[in-house]
Amino acid sequence: MSPRTEEALGTICTINLFDQGSEELYRRLFGRLSEIEGIFSPHLEGSDTARLNLGAGLEPVELSSSFIYVLDKALDYAELSGGAFNPALGPLIKLWDIGGEARIPSIFEIEEALELSNYRELEIYPQAMLLRRGMALDLGAIVKGYALDELRKILIEEEIDRAILDLGGDVYVHGARPSGDPWRVGLQDPREGLGGYLGIINAQDASIATSGTYQRYFEIEGRRYHHLLSPFTGYPVENGLMSVTVISRSGIEADALATAAFVLGWEEGRALIARSEGALGIFVFDDETLRLVGEAQDVEFELIAGEYRLAE
Ligand code: AMP
Ligand code: MG
Repeated sequence: MSPRTEEALGTICTINLFDQGSEELYRRLFGRLSEIEGIFSPHLEGSDTARLNLGAGLEPVELSSSFIYVLDKALDYAELSGGAFNPALGPLIKLWDIGGEARIPSIFEIEEALELSNYRELEIYPQAMLLRRGMALDLGAIVKGYALDELRKILIEEEIDRAILDLGGDVYVHGARPSGDPWRVGLQDPREGLGGYLGIINAQDASIATSGTYQRYFEIEGRRYHHLLSPFTGYPVENGLMSVTVISRSGIEADALATAAFVLGWEEGRALIARSEGALGIFVFDDETLRLVGEAQDVEFELIAGEYRLAE
């Protein structure tokens, strides 16, 4: 059976189960994706995110156990990254609306949004509530990784030998190729938009998550405003990076670390990844250099684009 593609989690998702693909299993996997979207999407009425945001400063809400699991992880990464990864950045994300209305907010609006983006002003137990009116959670930087982990559980339960899951560029490769060799996953050249590759990641049973300036942005007067926002300045992060890719067995970890490391930049981002056992980070800079940090089990990276070089 050929691979299946559907829209979910605000992106294009492709699942390839190769010769073990049945109609029923494809339906179950995509069904789980739409369930996850129904819990986490800030835009879907009745989702946990929407209810929590609507009740901000007003009333506590009941959250699903999946939501609390992901939120707990997000708060861990917020602490580990000194707030660079911020699950309560909703007001700023809505303000910039990257990918929506192309407009640069005023300094005043940015300050107001930042003022409402403190992830510590959140209660979870015994009931969940954002403490101030106007606060908003956005778990978009971690939910695709969580979704990869959830689908992986189903693949294991169904004893599937090999599969590739691609959720808008965040990929999980399950098992190995029929020859027993690892899968070969292309690392996007950030300059090429959704075109060429600058390297190949050889991996098995691994999640590969990328945060990059090319994924969602708008341009005004030749300047690019991308979707990775600094909780410190309130503007898209500018630190010489074009993308950070993290490979780890855990999807949620790869996704969170990629966003966190991008926002932190090379020095602090590398330290964060170095502390995370079993994670490999590939940092791509706008001067066409790459830097690697860490190690992931059974993962190797090959550089293929001649213009780029590996730096220390
Ligand atoms: P990702 O592609 O996983 O890096 O997630 C990017 C998305 O996470 C953005 O489109 C925003 O919705 C959200 N986001 C942007 N900046 C941050 C940040 N500093 N911390 C947490 N989430 C963020
Ligand atoms: Mg992420």
